Amino acid sequence: MSFRNVSKEALVGTVALGVVFVTGYFLGKKKSTRMSIIKSHSGGQDNPLMQYVLTHSMREHPALKNLRLKTMEDSWNIMMVACEQAQFMANLARLIQTKKALEIGVYTGYNTLNIALALPEDGVIVACDIREDYPNIGKPFWKEAGVEQKIDLRIQPALKTLDDLLSSGQAETFDFVFIDADKVNYDNYYEKALQLLRKGGVIAIDNVLWGGKVLNPAPGDEDTVAIDKLNKKLHKDIRITLSMLTVGDGLTLAVKL
Ligand code: CA
Repeated sequence: MSFRNVSKEALVGTVALGVVFVTGYFLGKKKSTRMSIIKSHSGGQDNPLMQYVLTHSMREHPALKNLRLKTMEDSWNIMMVACEQAQFMANLARLIQTKKALEIGVYTGYNTLNIALALPEDGVIVACDIREDYPNIGKPFWKEAGVEQKIDLRIQPALKTLDDLLSSGQAETFDFVFIDADKVNYDNYYEKALQLLRKGGVIAIDNVLWGGKVLNPAPGDEDTVAIDKLNKKLHKDIRITLSMLTVGDGLTLAVKL
């Protein structure tokens, strides 16, 4: 079966989630210059083994699936987290019994919803973004899933929100943090997130491979330079233990000691 030749609409609701995922994913990401690298991590339609992995492991809540398909209509859908990465992070959040989560960079709120679904009834995810239009795309799906009361969306610069949380006495109270916003501020987000995190909590940092550009950061490429610098810093950071995973566009997990 060729995924390339099957329309997204034809697949919805008719075949396995993994197949819908693969098709939706690639319909959305064809335009990206980083596509070829991301494909190699998340598995292209030419990678039967990765298709097997997705088909045999993806379980996507119906509201998440609907939000993903809605997000695929947006020209910036490259910013959406890979589904298998989101599912992994939800499992991780469950594993460490996350009640309080923080997300820096919401976009349409796919992962916001994904984490909210992994939280207990009294759990909360503070979701930071500077734009309201993209999260507004996700809001109806948060409601559809019945978890909108767990999502505390803050529309302002994330550094301001992090400072607000720190000054209101919430240091060392968060269990799980996901950093996926402007790359030049990654280190600032990381430092404040580390203060907000409890011992044993996890910070997940997205796009740490940046389409492979970290291998050769061009001096004027601020995003790549910032990511590479943080990668090198984390490797030596004795406040954490870490793993750098090749899922999606690269995901570093930092566990606070
Ligand atoms: Ca990202």
